[in-house]
Amino acid sequence: MTFRAEHLLGIEPLHPAEITALLDLADTYAEQNRSGRKHTDVLAGLTQINMFFEASTRTQASFELAGQRLGADVMSMAMQASSIRKGETLIDTALTLNAMHPDLLVVRHPSSGAVDLLAQKVNCAVLNAGDGRHEHPTQALLDALTIRREKGRLHRLSIAICGDIAHSRVARSNILLLGKMENRVRLIGPPTLMPAGVAEFGVEVFDDMEEGLKDVDVVMMLRLQKERMDGGFIPSEREYYHRFGLDAEKLGAAKPDAIVMHPGPMNRGVEIDGTLADDINRSVIQEQVEMGVAVRMAAMDLLARNLRAKRGAEMVADAGA
Ligand code: ASP
Repeated sequence: MTFRAEHLLGIEPLHPAEITALLDLADTYAEQNRSGRKHTDVLAGLTQINMFFEASTRTQASFELAGQRLGADVMSMAMQASSIRKGETLIDTALTLNAMHPDLLVVRHPSSGAVDLLAQKVNCAVLNAGDGRHEHPTQALLDALTIRREKGRLHRLSIAICGDIAHSRVARSNILLLGKMENRVRLIGPPTLMPAGVAEFGVEVFDDMEEGLKDVDVVMMLRLQKERMDGGFIPSEREYYHRFGLDAEKLGAAKPDAIVMHPGPMNRGVEIDGTLADDINRSVIQEQVEMGVAVRMAAMDLLARNLRAKRGAEMVADAGA
C-alpha cells in the first residue's frame, strides 16, 4: 500500500507518493459528496473522538461530517469546558481516552507538539487538527487538492503565501507540502511576521506584495493571528491592509488566471478585500471548505486501513506466542 503512516501528525514525515495517494482517494470522495449517495460504511464499527482544546468552526464540523459519512461512531468532546480546565494533564486525558477504546482520535491543541505527545500514549490512530504554530496537515492537504483540481497539476506552480507566516501552522504545513511536490513557494509579509530561520525553508521571501505576487499561479492569504501575538507586530490594521491586504489591484501582478485562497476565518478588510474574497471567478475559498470534508474522509479511511492491518498482525502474533 502506498500510504504507510500510522498517524497524521504533520506533513513533514509524509512521502510525496503518500500525499498523491491521499489526494487521489479524496478526489473520489469529493465526487461522492456531490452525488446523492454520500454515505459508505468504510469506518463502520470504529469510534472517532474529536478533542478540540482550541476553538474551531470549519475543521471540527468537517471532521464530524467526514466520520459520519464513512459510518463511524463520532463523538466530539468540548474540551474548553471539560477537565483540562480543571488541571488534568495530557497524560491523564490519554489514559481516560484509552479506556473508551477509540480507533481514530482527532486533536487540536494550542501547544506545538502536544498532539505528537498524545499519539505516543494512546492505542489508536491520531490526526492532528492543528497544534500551536507547528502543523495543520489536513489544511495543507485540502489546499493541495483544491489547487490540483483548479490548476490540473500540483507541481511546477508558483505559489505565494502572504501575511502572518510567523504564527501560522497553515503556512508551515503548506510550505512543507508544496516544497515536497516541487513547486516554487514565495512568502510575502512584513519582516516582523516572518519566522526565524526562514532562509532554510527553500522559499523566496518578499516584503512587497507587487514584487512577490508577480506572475504567481496561486495566492494564499493568511489571517493575522492576534491570539498568538504578544506585542505590536504591525503599526495598525489600516496600515497593514494598505501594504499587505489583497485587493483586485494588488492581484493584478499575479497571472491573469491566478486563484485566491484563504483557510478561514477571514478578517475582511484586514488581510483581504471582502469583494475579492466573494468573487467566484478568482476566489476558491468555498471549494477549500468543500475539499476539507473529502480530504478528511480520505485521511481517516487510509489510517483506518493501516490500523486494521496492524491490529490484525498483532492478533496473529499473539495467537502464535
Ligand atoms: N483555521 C486555521 C488554523 O486553525 C487558520 C487560522 O486560524 O487562521 O490554523
